[in-house]
Amino acid sequence: MAQVSLSRVTKRFGEITVIPELDLEIADKEFVVLVGPSGCGKTTTLRMIAGLELASSGTIRIGERDVTTLRAGLRNCAMVFQNYALYPHMTVRQNIAYGMKVRGVPKEERERAVEEAARILGLQPLLDRRPKQLSGGQRQRVAIGRAIVRRPDVFLFDEPLSNLDAKLRIEMRTEIKQLHRRLGNTVVYVTHDQVEAMTLADRVVVMHQGRIEQAARPLELYERPANTFVAGFIGAPSMNFLPAEIADGDLVLGDGSRMPLPEPFLQRLGPPNGRRQVTLGLRPEHVTGGDETAPLRLVVREIEPLGPTQLAIGELAGHRFIAQLPPHWPLAIDRPCGIVPDPARLHLFDPLTGRAL
Ligand code: ATP
Repeated sequence: MAQVSLSRVTKRFGEITVIPELDLEIADKEFVVLVGPSGCGKTTTLRMIAGLELASSGTIRIGERDVTTLRAGLRNCAMVFQNYALYPHMTVRQNIAYGMKVRGVPKEERERAVEEAARILGLQPLLDRRPKQLSGGQRQRVAIGRAIVRRPDVFLFDEPLSNLDAKLRIEMRTEIKQLHRRLGNTVVYVTHDQVEAMTLADRVVVMHQGRIEQAARPLELYERPANTFVAGFIGAPSMNFLPAEIADGDLVLGDGSRMPLPEPFLQRLGPPNGRRQVTLGLRPEHVTGGDETAPLRLVVREIEPLGPTQLAIGELAGHRFIAQLPPHWPLAIDRPCGIVPDPARLHLFDPLTGRAL
């Protein structure tokens, strides 16, 4: 069993507190992705699990063991980095076997482990090549091979795909997912790419300034973001946010446009005659185009055809707004376009705390 548990973990670098206090429970065999903007503390958290960085306080457990102060080599974690870190003068076979050799694993066993890893990763034809004779994706596969042969309790991935081109990233993403299904190890994976996070994870942990904003299954994050940070971070293009007021059971925007407050909100947010300031969140893909009877009006400033859809970018009630519309929906620059929100998919947030209402 290799559950990972971080309890009240903090990290300071000198005067700077990078992780104020973090609690995170990762189940055995779970694939957890830490995601968040640059500098939010993802890599630091991963390195503390690996033992490459010591926690300033708090407790880290892997399986039944308290590993808080245990050195990296004894934690039975294998880490795969962004920059592969392969030995250039060694063949693929030697690169994969190197760690085992250092640990004194007998030659026969080493060879068997290398063959096995090569088979899993489709590296057999490349075993005698050197890193510079490999593509980026193949190099990353070798780095993963080196991690596999350690038979770790926990795989730690630090942005492993960020040096690959877009097409290869998608391919490797699928491979990593299949690998996890086959090997069944616990995985903690760091990325700043929300698509990678959503597609790989059993559970996504959204971090911001060293704190966890929300930890949830991918679809739950998308459908029920806990706050404006998560709502804006997950989904592309980002959710649109508009200041609004609830008045007499309607949602009223700054330009006076209004629409009925959907039933579940009406019940939750108190009496229909009350007034309350809110932030309205609308995803670009949860609106449709409409005629002049539509409740909202977007003044189109830019049109981006994407093939299956097009983006209409402009202003709505004085705020920047993006709508994702069918590819042939009639649009013209500087002209208004009616916008009909899907009432079942609109989000409301407290404008002061940012929390979902
Ligand atoms: P990125 O996506 O850019 O890699 P990240 O979320 O992984 O970002 P970390 O690398 O964990 O972020 O860094 C978190 C914060 O800690 C940053 O502000 C960084 O500057 C700081 N930091 C990291 N390592 C050190 C260090 N050794 N000394 C001082 N500050 C550090």
